Amino acid sequence: MSTKQLVIVGAGPAGMRAAEQLVAAGQRPIVVDEGTRHGGQIYRQPPAVLQRERGDLYGFEAARASAVLDRFDALRPQIDYRPQTLAWQVEANTLQLLHAGRNCTLPFDALILAPGATDRVLPFPGWTLPGVYTLGAAQVALKYQGCLIGPRVVFAGTGPLLYLVAWQYATHGGQVAAVLDTAPAAAKWLAAPRLLARPAVAAKGAYFVARLRMMGVALHGGVTLLGAQGDERVTALSWRAGSDIHTTECDAIGFGYGLRSETQLADLAGCAFDYNPLEQAWLPTRDAAGRASVPGVYLAGDGASILGADAAELSGARAALAALEDLGLGPAGTARAAQIERELHAHVSFRRGLETAFAPPPRWAADAPDELIVCRCEEVTAGELRACARDTATREMNRLKALTRIGMGRCQGRMCAPAATRLLADAAGCALHEVGRLRGQAPIKPIPIAMLHERAPSTLVPEDQDD
Ligand SMILES: Cc1cc2nc3c(=O)[nH]c(=O)nc-3n(C[C@H](O)[C@H](O)[C@H](O)COP(=O)(O)OP(=O)(O)OC[C@H]3O[C@@H](n4cnc5c(N)ncnc54)[C@H](O)[C@@H]3O)c2cc1C
Repeated sequence: MSTKQLVIVGAGPAGMRAAEQLVAAGQRPIVVDEGTRHGGQIYRQPPAVLQRERGDLYGFEAARASAVLDRFDALRPQIDYRPQTLAWQVEANTLQLLHAGRNCTLPFDALILAPGATDRVLPFPGWTLPGVYTLGAAQVALKYQGCLIGPRVVFAGTGPLLYLVAWQYATHGGQVAAVLDTAPAAAKWLAAPRLLARPAVAAKGAYFVARLRMMGVALHGGVTLLGAQGDERVTALSWRAGSDIHTTECDAIGFGYGLRSETQLADLAGCAFDYNPLEQAWLPTRDAAGRASVPGVYLAGDGASILGADAAELSGARAALAALEDLGLGPAGTARAAQIERELHAHVSFRRGLETAFAPPPRWAADAPDELIVCRCEEVTAGELRACARDTATREMNRLKALTRIGMGRCQGRMCAPAATRLLADAAGCALHEVGRLRGQAPIKPIPIAMLHERAPSTLVPEDQDD
């Protein structure tokens, strides 16, 4: 075996398939993941004590989940897998990790970044009330903890997860008070030709909608969210359809507007970024194989571009082939590599369809009231951001951060940046890409402060060298 150190961040579909490809080439990759078990978001596994059938957990995706999870399990002896290990910094070909409460370093020859995505959050008045969750968090509660965010839930916002999570709740004992889609129903028809690039996936989406209707769940399209009500926790959500205002009583709300890629590690690694109009976000650039602009760094899965779990598997495998080729550990230009790239094309076309069907509300920034909290870590409001743009002629996100503290808290902008970017562009009267993006800062997620004072962090010793 070579002495090259091949490291993967993320044990979701992309990271697991990347590991499989490296093992097939005779390598022993190190896979770090902050989660307790492999699977990533879509194939998230509950704690071992909470036994659940895969059919119950993953629904239509159960066979696919088993294929990926069981393969990773079978390869475990050839993979140095480190769960509960957070990568919080990357510089000079070395990862900084939080592992077992300690800081440690992990040098690499090749780094495949597959950190996935989080919900794209566009807040509405009352979103900080207890009982309001993102759609992703609502699903994590169900998949990982086997519980609901409340007995009677409104799901709101837009995106494929909206109907999927509503259906999952409706079939797991939850009462779905309403599904409120901010994108109009007509947009789904407009998107149909592109969605048919993946007919089986489109059919699943149609099935969720049909089943929810048959179960008597109220589904509304083209709505505007006005605000959550409640004193100590949420009790209702008000919304508008046309000129009619409605209030739906509930105990919890799950909301979101699609997903956004986790790009901070790529940023800290020094990768170049480009604005991606489809995703309405700045993303690290990569070639068709997943090579980033920095030699030795590869990008895969939703962390590179939101294309879904099947595409994540493909791009993970492709990035691994590229890493092997670049290190002289595998052949160049294989038929398999070319085939993966061709297959990925269909996913891009499908994604275009999803953006048409579930576009975030175009007037969100213009309509956000001044008192709306945008950054909940630092309690920065929409009005403060607008005032900053107006009074200081700020036109750039990092300057906005310096002047208002937006994105300076625990989430480092992972939650508030999409909203703040839209507000700044709207207030400054410019296009979204013109205000730039928040620069990544280490630590990308909270770590114990004592760790920063450890003089000489230990180096993570690969398992096969442990003794
Ligand atoms: C909350 C949520 C729920 C979703 N549910 C579904 C669903 O039910 N059906 C569906 O089709 N799609 C779903 N998606 C989309 C789906 O997750 C993706 O398309 C797919 O899982 C992408 O695979 P991936 O390997 O790129 O990333 P992921 O599956 O997200 O895996 C990324 C992994 O990286 C790890 N990680 C991230 N950052 C770090 C770090 N700094 N250090 C160490 N580890 C790190 C994470 O713990 C995670 O295990 C969901 C997305 C989200 C955000």
